[in-house]
Amino acid sequence: MTTTNTDSRPLRDFVPQVRTLTIANKPVQPAGESWEVRNPATEDVLATVGGAAPEQVDQAVTAAREAFGPWSSLTGVQRSAAMHRLADVFEAHRDELLASIVNEVGTPVSLAEGMQVALGISHLRWQAEAAKKDRTVHLGGFDQPVPTESDVTHFPVGVVAAITGYNYPLNLAIYKFGAALAAGCTVVLLPSPRTPLTTLLFGDLVREAELPAGVLNTVVGGTEAGQRLSAHRGVDKVSFTGSDAVGSKIMEQAARNLNGVTLELGGKSASIVLPGTEVESFATDMHLRWSRNGGQGCAALARLLVHEDLYDRFLAASADAFEQMVVGDPWDRETNIGPMIRPDHRDRVRGYVDDAVEAGGKKLLSVEKPLPDKGYFVNPVLLGELGHDARAVQEEIFGPVAVVVPFRDTEEAVRLANDTAYGLAANVWAADLDEGRHVAERLRAGTVWINGGGGMRPDAPFGGSGRSGVGRELGEWGIREYLEPRHIQWRL
Ligand code: NAD
Repeated sequence: MTTTNTDSRPLRDFVPQVRTLTIANKPVQPAGESWEVRNPATEDVLATVGGAAPEQVDQAVTAAREAFGPWSSLTGVQRSAAMHRLADVFEAHRDELLASIVNEVGTPVSLAEGMQVALGISHLRWQAEAAKKDRTVHLGGFDQPVPTESDVTHFPVGVVAAITGYNYPLNLAIYKFGAALAAGCTVVLLPSPRTPLTTLLFGDLVREAELPAGVLNTVVGGTEAGQRLSAHRGVDKVSFTGSDAVGSKIMEQAARNLNGVTLELGGKSASIVLPGTEVESFATDMHLRWSRNGGQGCAALARLLVHEDLYDRFLAASADAFEQMVVGDPWDRETNIGPMIRPDHRDRVRGYVDDAVEAGGKKLLSVEKPLPDKGYFVNPVLLGELGHDARAVQEEIFGPVAVVVPFRDTEEAVRLANDTAYGLAANVWAADLDEGRHVAERLRAGTVWINGGGGMRPDAPFGGSGRSGVGRELGEWGIREYLEPRHIQWRL
């Protein structure tokens, strides 16, 4: 193990020391271009990371291909045991994983320990159990033109290229490799170059868990590495989490080999406040939800559709919520909003606010406290008085900026909620559950929460339609992304 434990140093000083790629369980010195990884909360350089050279991407794919036969030939019970060993090792290193996420993403520690580390590991455990499932379907008899019987069994797709975005480096990776390994596939994992350290650390964890060599390989790199991996002839399936712009490029790259894709992309999710609701009882929940992880969440419910009769009450209640927003040091347990990942992203987020104000919109609420001297922080803003076609209403801002739009009646709320290029998530605040359920059924979104919903279930599908992507992760749906059905028919 080259990973240090956190010894006596505070977690805030911990930086994973793994800088090597992991190919067939061996640490491999990267031979490609290097870049600096910065802590977005302090602007300090955390590490200089070398990327995989093109031939190293090829080596990782070859390793995954060589491992595929033996891994897919194991029984589900054997694969499950190996995956649980990996989950055990993740548990044993949860402090390092936590510190790595907080330091490279800037996620507040209070969010990272539950929603990232603990949840991620519990999802891996669920996937490990799902590896054991017998998915055979007995179709029974068919008489035309001769009597036969049929079963449908499944076989794994093959080698998976898994490419992840920066905002949840542990969870996004587990959603992909956990499901792929459970299905009997092998994986080459490429994280965002902005947050590669958590994934590099996986290399050590894979070795410590004695996962069979080549089953899970980790490489790092920029766009070129992503292009090479997603268009690679040795790859059978590409699973990507990131922006819709890159998602559409990935689809083209994968199409060259006629490979299937799973695309988990962005969103502009609506949160609908129906008439008759007690806005005061949930306004804080609502605002702390979209601003979670600094608004850098695909399912951030940042398009607030509020019934016109409740609009003034909603704004009054929201002022309290804004009082509770603490922007700053992610290691401070009071903090609920950390930094943006990079200065260009911070400027882009601020640009949306300036643009909205220039277009006649208003900053209805904002946090105006001084920001730390260092770090890429943005104060949260609630925008309003914009048409539903305004940029800030239609585009994913991916920062602590939400927009409120009033509606006249439920018909209009549904129409506005569905008036988006995305289709990832939505929330309905309803006084009556049946009414909330009725509205939920009319929304074009992969997940609909009613009255705030609850935790991210390992057994429920997650993903979206339209520009939010293709396919689903998590649950049985997530595993099916990596399985092909095989019809077996025999004569009687
Ligand atoms: P991004 O699209 O900028 O980058 C994601 C990854 O794509 C990076 O690893 C990058 O190196 C790689 N890449 C870039 N160009 C490529 C190419 N041509 N070929 C192959 N790979 C390429 O995304 P990001 O900024 O890191 O992440 C934020 C986005 O991810 C947001 O839009 C967010 O909504 C989305 N997201 C979606 C989900 C979901 O489950 N639906 C979850 C988290 C984040």
